[in-house]
Amino acid sequence: MVEHQIRRRGLRDESVLRAMLEVPRHLFVEARWVTEAYGDHAFPIGHGQTISQPYIVALMTSLLEPTAGLKILEIGTGSGYQAAILAACGLDVYSVERIPELSEFARGNLAAAGYLERVHLRVGDGSKGWPEEAPFDRAILTAGAPDVPPAIVEQLAPGGLIVAPVGGYGLQTIYRYRDVNGELDREPIEGARFVPLIESAMPEPGQAVPEPGQQTSDDLADNEP
Ligand code: SAH
Repeated sequence: MVEHQIRRRGLRDESVLRAMLEVPRHLFVEARWVTEAYGDHAFPIGHGQTISQPYIVALMTSLLEPTAGLKILEIGTGSGYQAAILAACGLDVYSVERIPELSEFARGNLAAAGYLERVHLRVGDGSKGWPEEAPFDRAILTAGAPDVPPAIVEQLAPGGLIVAPVGGYGLQTIYRYRDVNGELDREPIEGARFVPLIESAMPEPGQAVPEPGQQTSDDLADNEP
């Protein structure tokens, strides 16, 4: 997998290649997919979600310039595989997943592979980030969104990096964002297909809750032809 799918495509970051060799990917898939685990593609993990292609995981990890001891926010825990790769590079990972069953799936997988110590899991809408643990040196989105959610940008440490697939439904461009003196520089890397980031419709604490029967702007949008 590492030689044919990753090194041959030009990824040379030794710490990332070592992590990809070290983490047993078959521990992050359902039993019936074990023989596929090292294939050159994404595949289902249940609940309509996917574990990313190994090359994409390696690419996004390299773009993050991983250095041991950095603190990273991940949006979209999924199987926990990307989180394990980041942990294997020595990062402290804070990963948010909106589907409770997947977060539990990831917890079991990370424990079996021995990475749970460096990975902190939370169930919720990752587009809000993880304010109690901010700032983060790095952030990674593993679900596609029209833009990086503002909360993620706000929770980035000075000089930090964000890697995210940004674009339309089903087709995005992986971008790397770098904080330079409070401004985000954006660099397009390559096209990719990620499942969509789904933001929670739940109001945040302190936000007004519409009365039953009261029309919201979402209702209005639904009524349009
Ligand atoms: N990084 C994962 C792949 C994740 S697939 C891995 O290595 O296996 C994308 C994940 O993002 C899915 O599990 C999906 O449920 C989750 N997701 C989508 N929108 C989200 C949101 N707003 N907050 C947190 N997780 C979200």
